[in-house]
Amino acid sequence: MSRSIVPLVASALLALADPVSAQAPVMSDTVRYTLGWDNPASQLYQVAVTASARGEPVVFSLPAWRPGRYILQNYAANVQNVRAFDERGNPLPAEWIDLDSWRVEPGSANAVTLRYEYYAHTFDAGSSTLTPDAAYFNPVNLFPWIEGRKDAPVTLVIEAPADWTVATQLEKRPGSGHRYAAPDYHRLVDSPTIAAPDLVVWDYEVDGAAHHLAFRVVQGELDLGEYSRERIVADVSRLTEEAVAVFGVTPFDEYWHLFQLVPFPFGHAVEHESSASYVIQDRAFASANGYDGFLSIIAHEFFHAWNVKRIRPAALWPYEYSTPQLTRLHWVTEGVTSYYEGVLLARAGLLEEEGVYRRLSNNIRALQSSPGRLVTSAELSSLTAWHTGYGDGNPNQAISFYLKGSLLGLLLDLTIRDATDGARGLDDVMRLLWERHYEQGRGYPEDGFQTAAEEVAGRSLDDFFSRYVAGTDELPYDETLAIVGLTARQVANESKPAATFGWRLRKQGDDMTISNVLPDGPALAAGIMRDDVLVSVDGEATETVDLDPLLSQRSPGDEVRVILRRSGEEIEKRVTLGGEGNLQWTVEPVASPSERQLQLRQGWLETRLETAVP
Ligand SMILES: [Zn+2]
Repeated sequence: MSRSIVPLVASALLALADPVSAQAPVMSDTVRYTLGWDNPASQLYQVAVTASARGEPVVFSLPAWRPGRYILQNYAANVQNVRAFDERGNPLPAEWIDLDSWRVEPGSANAVTLRYEYYAHTFDAGSSTLTPDAAYFNPVNLFPWIEGRKDAPVTLVIEAPADWTVATQLEKRPGSGHRYAAPDYHRLVDSPTIAAPDLVVWDYEVDGAAHHLAFRVVQGELDLGEYSRERIVADVSRLTEEAVAVFGVTPFDEYWHLFQLVPFPFGHAVEHESSASYVIQDRAFASANGYDGFLSIIAHEFFHAWNVKRIRPAALWPYEYSTPQLTRLHWVTEGVTSYYEGVLLARAGLLEEEGVYRRLSNNIRALQSSPGRLVTSAELSSLTAWHTGYGDGNPNQAISFYLKGSLLGLLLDLTIRDATDGARGLDDVMRLLWERHYEQGRGYPEDGFQTAAEEVAGRSLDDFFSRYVAGTDELPYDETLAIVGLTARQVANESKPAATFGWRLRKQGDDMTISNVLPDGPALAAGIMRDDVLVSVDGEATETVDLDPLLSQRSPGDEVRVILRRSGEEIEKRVTLGGEGNLQWTVEPVASPSERQLQLRQGWLETRLETAVP
């Protein structure tokens, strides 16, 4: 990878300057990691990290966050029993020097080893867990870098039973045992790994690269329902081909999809350079909806192999792991990736046009029911991901950069198609970023996405970016979708009540709790607060969050008597109901599209495979 070019030269120079290294210039620089466990019920991994000493203190530092989740997670909180040794096993002093770092004084030692235990109790795609049946770890949680040596080569020994299967993007070393290597620390910590006795692994090939679908089923056996291995591999291969066709290049020789299937509702996945890790419910193959979700999440994570793992904001290049790296571009890294989920599925023939429109309708409805869209721009939500991007803060302030970014991706794609009579689109922007930045071994600047989009469109997009990306103007859905002969309209759903309270409810145990009070709504005007517990409306006890039957009996403007419980005491509020509670967004084709609209629509969603062949 281009990122390694400069560091490799630097480490070669260091090796020449070091008389000991001159004997074995590569190995002396190698940092060796070992991961073991003696009693998995304790959920404690034993970690050992060995590095050469150069007569100076050796500083080991654990990441405070991981790429893909832009929030501090302080992995060192899980570290205990830190000790250090020289190459003969004699103890050395190891000192905590800040929240994530230890300094070891080597004295006359040639090498130092840091040993500690890591408490692995969190099970999601980006965390680490340990049970008697499986070890799942993200090296970014539990392996430190050596200060000044992130670019040194690394080896990893996983002390799993010999008959266990290990699934990882790390390079397998020849010989017995579970021994792996990586060119540098960045690759090591980009490599989530499953070790288990009963992994199901399907191998297949796409465009000359080896692909693997690996499944660990937490409870029971892999159940494919109505689907078959052949069908699933064929569908995932089609998706893979469409993603490759966007860029015209496969940037890896091997790719792993690492699935862990759990027996409860769950959905989390994380992207990596040559793999993706997923923890999802084991119902993926039990219904068409489940299967759509399975393919969608694959499309998303696989597209990340280009967008963010390689085409990356300069602010995130290289990853530092220690402190927040701020960028206004997560609406691109995550949102544009989310937009491509539907695009790739449609181009691969795995999503009908109606399905595309349904997805767009749902996304528009979701954004338009987020009050934060009028307060927080796409850029600001990217920048503040570190404190509000994942559900913290005022729910009326936050917006999802996934959601808004996916709609911005759509509007930009169609705007560029319009400006170029269908000759170009968002694919060309992504390809330009690939060539101009990633292939030159660097990230793209904060204004680089707009610059690339304008170059592809052949005109200024300043108005678009200042109003909809940096600003909070309402998005121009209808006028932009008209480019491809679609319309986005708000329509009243006659089967739903128009009357509304202007709050969100959540069931917590037996309680109906007000989870949010919308700004400028009837509930707020009546003095109702978040976390109030709803007891009754007009004397009717409320036992479900679905108040539609009750609201159907009333009209906007009616006054209702609401009993709430706040701080253990019942209080009464009079609420004058608002209206338009049954408005929803619908995207559908216009009745009589023009020839141009039809052509642009076809160019937008047709497969890239035939068109790629000369
Ligand atoms: Zn993502």
